Formats: sequence, C-alpha cells, structure tokens
Amino acid sequence: MVFVGKAGSILIPELPYARTGAERLRGLRLLHPHLTADGVSAEDLMDMLFLRLDAVIALCVSPKGNPVQWQSAHLLPHRAADKPYHVERPLPWDRTEACFAATAAILETELARDAAAAPRATPDASHALLVSVASSPQTVQERNLDELAALAGTAGLTVTGRIIQRVKQINANLILGKGKVAELEVQALQSGSAMLVLDGELTPAQLHNLSDITERKVIDRTQLILDIFAQHAVTKTGKLQVELAQLRYTQPRIVGKNRAMDRLMGGIGGRGPGETKLETDRRRCRERTTHIRKELEQIHRQRSLTRNRRSQKGLPSAALVGYTNAGKTTLLNMLTHSRCLVQNKLFATLDTTARRMRFPSMREIIIADTVGFIRNLPNELREAFRGTLEELEYADILIHVADASHPDLLQQISAVESILSEMEVRPIPRLLVFNKWDQVSPTTKAGLADAFAHALPVSAKNGEGLALLPEHIERLLTRRQDTQYPHAE
Ligand code: GDP
Ligand code: MG
Repeated sequence: MVFVGKAGSILIPELPYARTGAERLRGLRLLHPHLTADGVSAEDLMDMLFLRLDAVIALCVSPKGNPVQWQSAHLLPHRAADKPYHVERPLPWDRTEACFAATAAILETELARDAAAAPRATPDASHALLVSVASSPQTVQERNLDELAALAGTAGLTVTGRIIQRVKQINANLILGKGKVAELEVQALQSGSAMLVLDGELTPAQLHNLSDITERKVIDRTQLILDIFAQHAVTKTGKLQVELAQLRYTQPRIVGKNRAMDRLMGGIGGRGPGETKLETDRRRCRERTTHIRKELEQIHRQRSLTRNRRSQKGLPSAALVGYTNAGKTTLLNMLTHSRCLVQNKLFATLDTTARRMRFPSMREIIIADTVGFIRNLPNELREAFRGTLEELEYADILIHVADASHPDLLQQISAVESILSEMEVRPIPRLLVFNKWDQVSPTTKAGLADAFAHALPVSAKNGEGLALLPEHIERLLTRRQDTQYPHAE
C-alpha cells in the first residue's frame, strides 16, 4: 500500500485486521520517508503501538532528495521492559541486514507467552484511569487527583490508576505529549480501563484530538461533575438545569460525526437528562436550549404555587448537605438500616435519595440526600448545581455533614456555609454533624469539641453518636416552629 501525505503529516487510512488476537501483530510494516534528518519520531511510535504494526521504519532523506540513513522500531512484550517498544540505532541507508519477518515472528511468540501468563483484562466501561496534566507541583496534582478519585467514585467509576504529567505550559491542541499518550494507552490496556478521566477542563480541540488517538472514552472533570448532577437531579427544574448545562458544554464539542462525538454519547459523561439530546446536531441543540430556557421561566413563575402545595403534605423534611465524600449517603443508609433507630419506608413520590423515617420518639420525617459540594466548581456549572439542590427550598432543616477527619475541615465548613447563605431564600435551621469521628485523633477531638460546642460528633461507619441524632433533629424542628409561627399570618 502506498499512502501519500504532506510534508508534516500523513493520514493512515483504516487498515484491515488481517489477523486478530492479543498476541498477533498486524502483519504490516510501515516504511516512510522523513524529509528531515531525524529518525523514528514519537508519532511513528504511537502509530505502531495503536495500529499494532510489525515494525515502523523511517528513511531520512537529504534536502536534495537522496536517502541518508534509516531507523526502525518494533514493539516489545509487556513484561519485558518499562517501554512498550524498542528503537534500533540508525543505519546508513544502504545497509539492510535486518530481518523483519524473523523479528515479528519472535515477537509474536513472546506476546503469546505474555498473553498466556497474564490474560489481558477486557476493558471495563466503568474502569477509569485518572490523568493530570498541569504546571502545578506534583503534590498539588496528587491532591487534585485524590479529589477527582472521590468524584469518580461518586459517579460510579472504579479508578484503576493515575498518570501525572507536569508541563511548563499546556499544549492547546493535544493536552498530553505523544509519548505520554502511548504510556497511558499501555497502562489502560493492562488495567482494562475503557475510560480516561482528565483533571480540569479540556478545550474542544484537546478533547477531539485525544479521543482521535486513543481507543478510550475521554471525559474531563466538568463532564464527570455534570454526570453526577444528572444522577442527582430530582425535580423538574433541577433536571432541566442540568440538561441546559450539558447542552452548553457539549455544543462547541459537536464537530460533525466523528469519534470524539461517539465518546460523548452514552455511559458516564453522557447520561441522564441530556442523554438523547447529545446525539442531535448543533441546530437541534440550540432549539432544545431555547425550549428549556422558556420552560424554566414558566416554572419559575409557577413556583410559589408549587411551594404552597408541597407544604400542605405536612411532613417535616430534612436535607443532608456537605462536601462530596463527607459521608452523607453512608449516614442516610446507616439511619435506614439501624432499625432500632429509625423506621424507613421508601417514599414513593420522592426519588431513591429521599427516605421517610420514623424516629422512636417523634413523628415521621423525610430525609433527603443531596449531591455533594464540590471544590473549584466550574462557573458554568453553578446554576446546574443549584438545580440539584432544589430540595433545600422545601427543607425544614438542614443537616450539614462535615468530614471531621479531613485536613481542610474548617475551610470546607465555611465554604458550605457561604454557598448555602448565598442561595437560601430564607434562613433554615442547621445541624452540624461531625462525621468520621472514628478517624479523628484525641487532641483534634478535644479541640473541635471546644470550638464547635453545638456540633454532633458521629461515625456513620460504626454508628457511634447516631443515637443522639433524633433528639437533635427534633429540637431543631421545634425551634423552626417557634420561629415560623409569628410569620404565619
Ligand atoms: P458522600 O459523598 O457525602 O455521600 O459520602 P459517602 O457516604 O459516599 O462516603 C464517602 C466515604 O467515606 C466512603 O468511603 C465511606 O465509607 C466513608 N465514610 C463515611 N462515613 C464514615 C465514617 O463515619 N468513618 C469512616 N472512617 N469513614 C466513613
Ligand atoms: Mg453521596
């Protein structure tokens, strides 16, 4: 086959799979001229890796068009070395003692032995590699990836590994260096990860280019968060707001029918209210956006009406708020399962994140879980985030769950407080719960108890302190009535 490219690039068309199986090579050698003096390039190596070529050979040509020297490279079995390929040293163009067919045959035997020793994991759609590319120090990147891992867990992904690249400046076209993408691909193959989650936000070009190279589905932090919101949005307004945010984020990323677009659809990152819409073209996107805006306006006008109707149901309600990973869901589940503490019925008209409970000494109460607060929430997601917190408008009390074992506890508490007061239409009584008390050191415990005398220390994991929760909730509800009655008329 002969492909003709430009001076700087060549497009390799889809190659037939002559042979299949993890241990087989493609049965093709790629030989191409380089119009410069360098040998096999990072691009060549990537092509070889992703296309499973038998070998790649670069023939350097002088400015006058004469052959100068050539260099070849071939793949290596996984366990052999830290690099997935081997690059031979350059040779004068007329020296051709290499035997490619023999090398390929040996390599296939080695690959087969590899495959037999450690069968390669089949890619799992919910398995993800986390990737950080930034100019910040490694420790900062590590910490951001910790947080990304927590978000991935919330979205239902299993994290299989991390890759960190520190760069001086982020490349506008391809966020990762080509060699790093190759490394990523190898790690993804070995861990059976079908997905790459990049920290931060990718530009449409970066997403498009990275998706084009790798076989994996690529999403960024923003898409991951949108996916979590989509899972948590309950009310009509909330769902519409999340869909609006998904549309806004996807619209510039629709570039005709290409592979990047395939990767935007379905599964994590393309789920929830906006799912089917992601398949539509830009015009339909715009129409849908306009439609949602109108619908939201209308809902807004009707809202006071709805609220009156809701409050007539008469059951007091509490909403769990707090940072992602503070233990809200664990707490709710713990309350649900410890039968001596509460009686639980799934409340049919609410979604699965709300439970109707009866504490021993009190009437029934609805407790709703909410999506967690997220640090560095991208600005364009603020509206959608509020959409997922719609319940707060109807909540009689808020249970603020904080992770007492977290080094940033104080900042997290004040961040939650400030967002709440920003969005509250009226002051809602709050109960501060210090969760993960089992993991707090004795000195910290003493300090916290001093500084936050009103907070309730608990452990959602081992049940410690939970027996006191009903009492606290009841006290808060009574207080709410005290403060509410004067305004009732
Ligand atoms: P959410 O994001 O606020 O809903 O947090 P989750 O309920 O999903 O909990 C996040 C993580 O914290 C999980 O791995 C829990 O097992 C863990 N966790 C929750 N409560 C406790 C606790 O009281 N003690 C300890 N040690 N871990 C906890
Ligand atoms: Mg949760």
